[in-house]
Amino acid sequence: MSSEQQLVEILRRAIGDESILRSNQVAALDPGWDPGNTGAGVAVRPRDTAEVSAVLKACNEHGIPVVTHGGRTGLAGGAVSTAGQIIMLTERLQGGIAIDPVEQVAVVSTAVSQQALQEAAAEHGLSLGIDTASRGSATIGGMISTNAGGMEAFRHGMMRQRLLGIEAVLADGSVISDMTRVPKANEGYDLKQLFCGAEGTLGVVTRAVIKLEPAEPESNTTLLAVPGAASALRVMRSIQESGGLLLCEMMWHGYATRVANATGLTNVLSFCDDAPAYLVVESTLDEDPLLALFEPFFETGDVIDAVMAKSKSESADIWRIREDSQAAYQQLKNPALFDISIPLGKLDSYMQNLQQRLDAMDGDISLQALAHLGDGNLHLSMGREAPWSTREKTALGMAVENGVKEMGGAISAEHGIGLAKLDIFDRNTSDTSLVAMRAIKTALDPKGILNPGKVLPA
Ligand SMILES: Cc1cc2nc3c(=O)[nH]c(=O)nc-3n(C[C@H](O)[C@H](O)[C@H](O)COP(=O)(O)OP(=O)(O)OC[C@H]3O[C@@H](n4cnc5c(N)ncnc54)[C@H](O)[C@@H]3O)c2cc1C
Repeated sequence: MSSEQQLVEILRRAIGDESILRSNQVAALDPGWDPGNTGAGVAVRPRDTAEVSAVLKACNEHGIPVVTHGGRTGLAGGAVSTAGQIIMLTERLQGGIAIDPVEQVAVVSTAVSQQALQEAAAEHGLSLGIDTASRGSATIGGMISTNAGGMEAFRHGMMRQRLLGIEAVLADGSVISDMTRVPKANEGYDLKQLFCGAEGTLGVVTRAVIKLEPAEPESNTTLLAVPGAASALRVMRSIQESGGLLLCEMMWHGYATRVANATGLTNVLSFCDDAPAYLVVESTLDEDPLLALFEPFFETGDVIDAVMAKSKSESADIWRIREDSQAAYQQLKNPALFDISIPLGKLDSYMQNLQQRLDAMDGDISLQALAHLGDGNLHLSMGREAPWSTREKTALGMAVENGVKEMGGAISAEHGIGLAKLDIFDRNTSDTSLVAMRAIKTALDPKGILNPGKVLPA
């Protein structure tokens, strides 16, 4: 392992002293969502693709591992770094945001935050087509590298579907620059898609061309109490058929009440505080047509009760309960997080079976769940008083993954593999697929300097 002084000297020769952060400065950085992110002693802040290239070339020559950081909101440990590694901070990458309203594309530096791009697009009557609760900090580079999804993915797809062009630096410093601006481009293997979801293991993404969507119309927020996912899906389809559905997020009772308690917003759920689950709907329908649409569902029991936000602040309170997942996680002792996708028709049975498996393991495990309903994407968090042993952690993972692949679901939906899901990924991926993935990694990063130990199980 190289000493801090050796790393600094190699970087200084590559791009100069001014771009280097030493261990005391790295320790002062906000680690973001994983305390292990800032474990490396040295960080570098290149200003453009050429500087990223110079850093990677030098690191490759000396076999120094590089962990790239965007907004550090990743939830799978993909940005965790350790001593002897270098953190590549994308924050100073120049280029900003250039929007072409005719083509409806944005050409951006990957340092740009999701929210900055959303706001810039809105000025042209356009939208990014992706929205996550981490919008203030998550960067476009991080979103490409984790193939972010979020609440609009059921209408516009994930980051993969938004990506038209890319500039990325490979481990040896060579640059793939393919800033294509058109959606139809069949020009051999689609290399840009390799970087999407690669979590910094195949290259550092410095610039991108992003497809935009027409701006979202004016909308209103409704909170519905529902008995379960099958009912929620019937309601969702009905609003979808009316053409007015923008967002549809589901929260099971445990999650919603925990966040409501933690944020002092219990009044939001007071219209029906013992419902098995809640549905947050953002739609373009006004109150009367919406009530008419819900009417038959009250009769069938698919909707237990519903309230419509009467003001922006009531809408914000409803959305705070859905989005402030941190408030829920912080109250959990020994939290374990999972992010999976289940085919829509099987959501209720999966949740029931999972609860039974958890009860059989330990009656003290508390389960909280929310879903990007349209994608069947479940975010599960579990906690209990006693810490998990390694064996229990594995058993927990196996309880979650049970039957998921067989039913056509996915054991990692939108947060990536990082470090957190290496074992669950290993257990659920065929040898053939892993061999092919390792061959790609070796071809692009033969010395294995890019984010070693992430994504691909050893
Ligand atoms: C409150 C909250 C809500 C969230 N909601 C959602 C959600 O709804 N949907 C969703 O998909 N995710 C969600 N996330 C997860 C997270 O915001 C996304 O994974 C996001 O895309 C990470 O972006 P980042 O800039 O923070 O990346 P980081 O956390 O900095 O990095 C994530 C990974 O990408 C790599 N990386 C970062 N930038 C680059 C680059 N330029 N080139 C190469 N590799 C790079 C890193 O090495 C790391 O492996 C949420 C997170 C939080 C905290």
